[in-house]
Amino acid sequence: MTVYVAGIDLGGTKIEVGLIAPDNRIVARRRFPTEDHLGPASVVERIAACLDELQTQLPGGERVAAVGVCTPGPVDHASGTLIDPPNIPGLHHTPLAALLSDRLGVPVPIDHDAKATGLGEYHYGAGRGERSMVYVIVGTGVGIAIVADGQIYRGLHNSAGEFGHSTMDRFGAVCSCGSRGCVETFMSGPWLARRYAAAQRGEPPTLETVATLGGQEIAALAHQGDPLALRVITEAGEALGAAVATLAMTLDIDYFVIGGSVAHCGDLLFAPARRTVPHYSFKSVGERVRIVGSQLDTDGALLGCAWLARQALPMTKDRNL
Ligand SMILES: [Zn+2]
Repeated sequence: MTVYVAGIDLGGTKIEVGLIAPDNRIVARRRFPTEDHLGPASVVERIAACLDELQTQLPGGERVAAVGVCTPGPVDHASGTLIDPPNIPGLHHTPLAALLSDRLGVPVPIDHDAKATGLGEYHYGAGRGERSMVYVIVGTGVGIAIVADGQIYRGLHNSAGEFGHSTMDRFGAVCSCGSRGCVETFMSGPWLARRYAAAQRGEPPTLETVATLGGQEIAALAHQGDPLALRVITEAGEALGAAVATLAMTLDIDYFVIGGSVAHCGDLLFAPARRTVPHYSFKSVGERVRIVGSQLDTDGALLGCAWLARQALPMTKDRNL
Protein backbone atom coordinates (compact mmCIF):
# COMPACT_ATOMS: atom_id res chain seq x y z
CA MET A 1 0.00 0.00 0.00
CA THR A 2 1.28 3.43 -0.83
CA VAL A 3 -1.55 5.86 -0.15
CA TYR A 4 -2.78 7.62 2.96
CA VAL A 5 -6.44 7.35 3.94
CA ALA A 6 -8.53 8.96 6.70
CA GLY A 7 -10.83 7.45 9.29
CA ILE A 8 -13.67 9.32 10.97
CA ASP A 9 -15.43 8.06 14.10
CA LEU A 10 -18.60 10.13 14.33
CA GLY A 11 -20.38 9.73 17.66
CA GLY A 12 -23.16 11.47 19.55
CA THR A 13 -20.80 13.76 21.46
CA LYS A 14 -17.54 13.89 19.50
CA ILE A 15 -16.04 13.36 16.08
CA GLU A 16 -12.55 11.85 15.88
CA VAL A 17 -10.58 12.24 12.66
CA GLY A 18 -7.37 10.28 12.00
CA LEU A 19 -4.90 10.08 9.12
CA ILE A 20 -3.66 6.55 8.49
CA ALA A 21 -0.34 5.90 6.80
CA PRO A 22 0.29 3.23 4.14
CA ASP A 23 1.64 0.96 6.91
CA ASN A 24 -1.63 1.39 8.87
CA ARG A 25 -0.25 3.62 11.61
CA ILE A 26 -2.43 6.50 12.78
CA VAL A 27 -0.07 9.41 12.11
CA ALA A 28 -2.27 12.36 13.09
CA ARG A 29 -5.60 12.78 14.84
CA ARG A 30 -8.03 15.44 16.02
CA ARG A 31 -11.18 15.39 18.08
CA PHE A 32 -13.98 17.97 18.18
CA PRO A 33 -17.59 18.12 19.42
CA THR A 34 -20.24 16.69 17.07
CA GLU A 35 -22.75 19.54 17.58
CA ASP A 36 -25.16 17.78 15.24
CA HIS A 37 -27.84 20.37 16.13
CA LEU A 38 -25.96 22.72 13.75
CA GLY A 39 -27.04 20.44 10.88
CA PRO A 40 -25.40 18.30 8.18
CA ALA A 41 -23.72 21.18 6.29
CA SER A 42 -21.90 22.30 9.44
CA VAL A 43 -20.76 18.77 10.28
CA VAL A 44 -19.45 18.22 6.72
CA GLU A 45 -17.64 21.59 6.68
CA ARG A 46 -15.97 21.05 10.05
CA ILE A 47 -14.80 17.54 9.03
CA ALA A 48 -13.43 18.93 5.74
CA ALA A 49 -11.64 21.80 7.51
CA CYS A 50 -10.12 19.36 10.01
CA LEU A 51 -8.91 17.06 7.20
CA ASP A 52 -7.44 20.04 5.31
CA GLU A 53 -5.49 21.07 8.38
CA LEU A 54 -4.29 17.54 9.20
CA GLN A 55 -3.18 16.89 5.63
CA THR A 56 -0.69 19.75 5.75
CA GLN A 57 1.38 17.38 7.93
CA LEU A 58 1.66 14.74 5.20
CA PRO A 59 4.96 14.44 3.32
CA GLY A 60 5.31 15.89 -0.18
CA GLY A 61 1.88 17.54 -0.35
CA GLU A 62 0.23 14.12 -0.24
CA ARG A 63 -3.60 13.96 0.11
CA VAL A 64 -5.78 11.14 1.40
CA ALA A 65 -7.15 8.84 -1.33
CA ALA A 66 -10.35 7.84 0.50
CA VAL A 67 -12.16 8.50 3.79
CA GLY A 68 -13.95 5.83 5.85
CA VAL A 69 -16.63 6.90 8.34
CA CYS A 70 -18.35 5.02 11.15
CA THR A 71 -21.42 6.11 13.11
CA PRO A 72 -23.86 4.56 15.57
CA GLY A 73 -26.64 2.58 13.92
CA PRO A 74 -28.97 2.37 12.26
CA VAL A 75 -26.98 3.31 9.18
CA ASP A 76 -27.55 2.24 5.57
CA HIS A 77 -24.02 1.36 4.44
CA ALA A 78 -25.14 0.74 0.83
CA SER A 79 -26.50 4.28 0.31
CA GLY A 80 -24.20 5.89 2.88
CA THR A 81 -27.12 7.33 4.84
CA LEU A 82 -27.54 7.75 8.59
CA ILE A 83 -31.07 6.61 9.35
CA ASP A 84 -32.10 7.64 12.88
CA PRO A 85 -29.34 7.03 15.45
CA PRO A 86 -30.95 8.15 18.76
CA ASN A 87 -27.93 10.17 19.95
CA ILE A 88 -27.45 12.13 16.69
CA PRO A 89 -30.88 13.65 15.93
CA GLY A 90 -29.38 16.47 13.83
CA LEU A 91 -28.16 13.97 11.21
CA HIS A 92 -31.24 11.79 10.85
CA HIS A 93 -31.82 10.71 7.23
CA THR A 94 -28.63 12.46 6.11
CA PRO A 95 -26.83 11.07 3.02
CA LEU A 96 -23.51 11.76 4.72
CA ALA A 97 -21.36 9.66 2.37
CA ALA A 98 -22.53 11.62 -0.69
CA LEU A 99 -22.21 15.01 1.06
CA LEU A 100 -18.67 14.27 2.25
CA SER A 101 -17.60 12.70 -1.04
CA ASP A 102 -18.83 15.75 -3.01
CA ARG A 103 -17.01 18.09 -0.64
CA LEU A 104 -13.75 16.09 -0.43
CA GLY A 105 -13.57 14.68 -3.96
CA VAL A 106 -12.67 11.14 -2.80
CA PRO A 107 -14.68 7.95 -2.10
CA VAL A 108 -16.37 7.95 1.34
CA PRO A 109 -17.75 4.60 2.57
CA ILE A 110 -19.81 4.66 5.79
CA ASP A 111 -20.57 1.83 8.18
CA HIS A 112 -21.93 1.02 11.61
CA ASP A 113 -19.39 1.79 14.36
CA ALA A 114 -19.39 -1.64 16.03
CA LYS A 115 -18.92 -3.33 12.66
CA ALA A 116 -16.12 -0.94 11.63
CA THR A 117 -14.36 -1.45 14.98
CA GLY A 118 -14.74 -5.21 14.63
CA LEU A 119 -13.26 -5.06 11.13
CA GLY A 120 -10.33 -3.00 12.44
CA GLU A 121 -9.69 -5.59 15.16
CA TYR A 122 -10.06 -8.45 12.67
CA HIS A 123 -7.61 -7.08 10.10
CA TYR A 124 -5.10 -5.21 12.27
CA GLY A 125 -5.54 -6.35 15.90
CA ALA A 126 -6.42 -9.45 17.90
CA GLY A 127 -8.17 -11.04 14.90
CA ARG A 128 -5.13 -11.23 12.60
CA GLY A 129 -4.73 -14.74 11.20
CA GLU A 130 -8.17 -15.89 12.38
CA ARG A 131 -10.80 -17.17 9.93
CA SER A 132 -13.84 -16.12 11.98
CA MET A 133 -14.36 -14.10 15.13
CA VAL A 134 -16.94 -12.19 17.11
CA TYR A 135 -15.99 -8.75 18.40
CA VAL A 136 -17.98 -7.85 21.51
CA ILE A 137 -17.99 -4.18 22.51
CA VAL A 138 -18.95 -3.64 26.15
CA GLY A 139 -19.14 0.05 26.96
CA THR A 140 -22.08 2.42 27.39
CA GLY A 141 -23.99 -0.25 25.49
CA VAL A 142 -23.21 -3.73 24.22
CA GLY A 143 -22.95 -4.68 20.55
CA ILE A 144 -21.22 -7.33 18.49
CA ALA A 145 -19.63 -7.60 15.06
CA ILE A 146 -19.69 -11.06 13.50
CA VAL A 147 -16.88 -11.80 11.06
CA ALA A 148 -17.54 -15.19 9.46
CA ASP A 149 -15.00 -16.59 6.99
CA GLY A 150 -13.48 -13.10 6.65
CA GLN A 151 -16.78 -11.38 5.87
CA ILE A 152 -18.77 -9.12 8.17
CA TYR A 153 -22.29 -10.47 8.68
CA ARG A 154 -24.80 -7.64 8.25
CA GLY A 155 -28.24 -9.21 8.10
CA LEU A 156 -30.93 -7.93 5.76
CA HIS A 157 -30.88 -4.34 7.06
CA ASN A 158 -27.31 -3.99 8.38
CA SER A 159 -28.69 -4.34 11.91
CA ALA A 160 -27.17 -7.74 12.78
CA GLY A 161 -25.27 -7.52 16.04
CA GLU A 162 -27.76 -5.73 18.30
CA PHE A 163 -26.91 -8.44 20.81
CA GLY A 164 -26.95 -6.00 23.73
CA HIS A 165 -30.74 -6.10 23.62
CA SER A 166 -31.08 -9.87 23.45
CA THR A 167 -32.83 -11.15 26.56
CA MET A 168 -30.76 -13.20 29.03
CA ASP A 169 -33.40 -13.18 31.75
CA ARG A 170 -36.99 -12.59 30.82
CA PHE A 171 -37.79 -11.82 34.46
CA GLY A 172 -34.84 -9.41 34.70
CA ALA A 173 -34.65 -5.62 35.02
CA VAL A 174 -36.53 -3.45 32.55
CA CYS A 175 -34.04 -2.09 30.00
CA SER A 176 -33.93 1.36 28.36
CA CYS A 177 -35.21 -0.35 25.18
CA GLY A 178 -38.40 -1.41 26.99
CA SER A 179 -37.54 -5.11 27.03
CA ARG A 180 -36.43 -7.09 30.10
CA GLY A 181 -33.17 -8.67 31.24
CA CYS A 182 -31.21 -7.58 28.15
CA VAL A 183 -27.53 -8.58 27.91
CA GLU A 184 -26.72 -4.90 28.41
CA THR A 185 -28.42 -4.79 31.84
CA PHE A 186 -25.79 -7.25 33.14
CA MET A 187 -22.57 -5.66 31.93
CA SER A 188 -22.70 -2.19 30.33
CA GLY A 189 -20.89 0.64 32.15
CA PRO A 190 -24.11 2.38 33.30
CA TRP A 191 -25.56 -0.93 34.51
CA LEU A 192 -22.37 -1.80 36.44
CA ALA A 193 -22.88 1.55 38.17
CA ARG A 194 -26.56 0.79 38.91
CA ARG A 195 -25.73 -2.73 40.12
CA TYR A 196 -23.03 -1.42 42.48
CA ALA A 197 -25.29 1.30 43.91
CA ALA A 198 -28.23 -1.12 44.31
CA ALA A 199 -26.02 -3.74 45.98
CA GLN A 200 -24.82 -1.13 48.50
CA ARG A 201 -28.46 -0.60 49.47
CA GLY A 202 -29.34 -4.30 49.32
CA GLU A 203 -31.92 -3.67 46.57
CA PRO A 204 -32.34 -5.14 43.09
CA PRO A 205 -30.97 -2.85 40.35
CA THR A 206 -33.45 -0.99 38.13
CA LEU A 207 -33.26 1.58 35.36
CA GLU A 208 -34.12 4.21 38.01
CA THR A 209 -31.32 3.23 40.42
CA VAL A 210 -29.35 6.38 41.16
CA ALA A 211 -25.61 5.66 40.87
CA THR A 212 -23.00 7.94 42.41
CA LEU A 213 -19.98 6.08 40.97
CA GLY A 214 -19.44 5.41 37.24
CA GLY A 215 -18.45 2.10 35.66
CA GLN A 216 -14.77 3.10 35.43
CA GLU A 217 -14.63 4.07 39.12
CA ILE A 218 -16.11 0.69 40.06
CA ALA A 219 -13.49 -1.03 37.89
CA ALA A 220 -10.78 0.95 39.71
CA LEU A 221 -12.25 -0.07 43.10
CA ALA A 222 -12.29 -3.72 41.98
CA HIS A 223 -8.61 -3.49 41.02
CA GLN A 224 -7.95 -2.18 44.56
CA GLY A 225 -9.73 -5.21 46.02
CA ASP A 226 -13.06 -3.61 47.05
CA PRO A 227 -15.23 -6.71 47.71
CA LEU A 228 -18.51 -5.24 46.44
CA ALA A 229 -16.92 -3.90 43.25
CA LEU A 230 -15.23 -7.28 42.73
CA ARG A 231 -18.56 -9.03 43.11
CA VAL A 232 -20.30 -6.74 40.61
CA ILE A 233 -17.54 -7.18 37.99
CA THR A 234 -17.33 -10.94 38.59
CA GLU A 235 -21.09 -11.24 38.02
CA ALA A 236 -20.77 -9.14 34.85
CA GLY A 237 -18.01 -11.52 33.68
CA GLU A 238 -20.21 -14.54 34.39
CA ALA A 239 -23.02 -12.96 32.37
CA LEU A 240 -20.52 -12.27 29.57
CA GLY A 241 -19.50 -15.94 29.67
CA ALA A 242 -23.12 -17.07 29.35
CA ALA A 243 -23.60 -14.62 26.45
CA VAL A 244 -20.45 -15.88 24.70
CA ALA A 245 -21.60 -19.48 25.21
CA THR A 246 -24.91 -18.64 23.52
CA LEU A 247 -23.08 -17.00 20.60
CA ALA A 248 -20.68 -19.94 20.27
CA MET A 249 -23.58 -22.43 20.25
CA THR A 250 -25.50 -20.31 17.70
CA LEU A 251 -22.71 -19.35 15.33
CA ASP A 252 -20.10 -22.11 15.74
CA ILE A 253 -17.44 -19.40 16.04
CA ASP A 254 -14.90 -19.98 18.82
CA TYR A 255 -12.86 -16.76 18.97
CA PHE A 256 -14.24 -13.79 20.94
CA VAL A 257 -12.46 -10.44 21.22
CA ILE A 258 -13.80 -8.15 23.95
CA GLY A 259 -13.41 -4.37 23.57
CA GLY A 260 -15.03 -1.21 24.93
CA SER A 261 -14.43 0.62 28.20
CA VAL A 262 -15.67 -2.22 30.45
CA ALA A 263 -13.08 -4.54 28.82
CA HIS A 264 -10.42 -2.43 30.61
CA CYS A 265 -11.32 -4.56 33.67
CA GLY A 266 -9.19 -7.23 31.94
CA ASP A 267 -8.98 -10.59 33.69
CA LEU A 268 -11.31 -9.43 36.48
CA LEU A 269 -13.98 -9.69 33.75
CA PHE A 270 -12.48 -12.30 31.40
CA ALA A 271 -11.57 -14.96 34.00
CA PRO A 272 -15.17 -15.40 35.27
CA ALA A 273 -16.37 -15.28 31.64
CA ARG A 274 -13.99 -18.12 30.66
CA ARG A 275 -15.02 -20.10 33.76
CA THR A 276 -18.71 -19.71 32.91
CA VAL A 277 -18.71 -20.64 29.20
CA PRO A 278 -18.65 -24.45 29.78
CA HIS A 279 -21.73 -24.25 32.03
CA TYR A 280 -23.90 -22.93 29.18
CA SER A 281 -22.59 -24.78 26.12
CA PHE A 282 -21.88 -28.30 24.88
CA LYS A 283 -18.56 -29.54 26.22
CA SER A 284 -17.19 -29.85 22.68
CA VAL A 285 -18.20 -26.25 21.89
CA GLY A 286 -17.18 -24.68 25.20
CA GLU A 287 -13.69 -26.18 25.25
CA ARG A 288 -12.86 -24.53 21.92
CA VAL A 289 -13.96 -21.03 22.99
CA ARG A 290 -11.22 -18.44 23.41
CA ILE A 291 -11.94 -15.07 25.03
CA VAL A 292 -9.30 -12.32 24.68
CA GLY A 293 -9.15 -8.55 25.12
CA SER A 294 -8.99 -6.09 22.22
CA GLN A 295 -5.47 -5.18 21.04
CA LEU A 296 -6.42 -1.88 19.40
CA ASP A 297 -8.74 -0.50 22.08
CA THR A 298 -10.19 2.81 20.88
CA ASP A 299 -7.96 2.89 17.76
CA GLY A 300 -10.01 0.00 16.36
CA ALA A 301 -12.72 2.35 15.05
CA LEU A 302 -10.30 4.60 13.10
CA LEU A 303 -8.36 1.62 11.75
CA GLY A 304 -11.58 -0.13 10.74
CA CYS A 305 -12.61 3.06 8.91
CA ALA A 306 -9.22 3.03 7.19
CA TRP A 307 -9.83 -0.55 6.07
CA LEU A 308 -13.26 0.47 4.71
CA ALA A 309 -11.64 3.44 2.93
CA ARG A 310 -9.10 1.14 1.25
CA GLN A 311 -11.93 -1.13 0.06
CA ALA A 312 -13.37 1.87 -1.82
CA LEU A 313 -10.17 2.37 -3.83
CA PRO A 314 -9.74 0.93 -7.33
CA MET A 315 -8.58 -2.69 -7.38
CA THR A 316 -4.86 -2.10 -7.03
CA LYS A 317 -2.26 -2.97 -4.43
CA ASP A 318 -3.53 0.04 -2.45
CA ARG A 319 -6.87 -1.56 -1.88
CA ASN A 320 -5.91 -3.86 0.91
CA LEU A 321 -4.01 -6.73 2.52
ZN1 LIG B 1 -32.63 -3.68 25.98
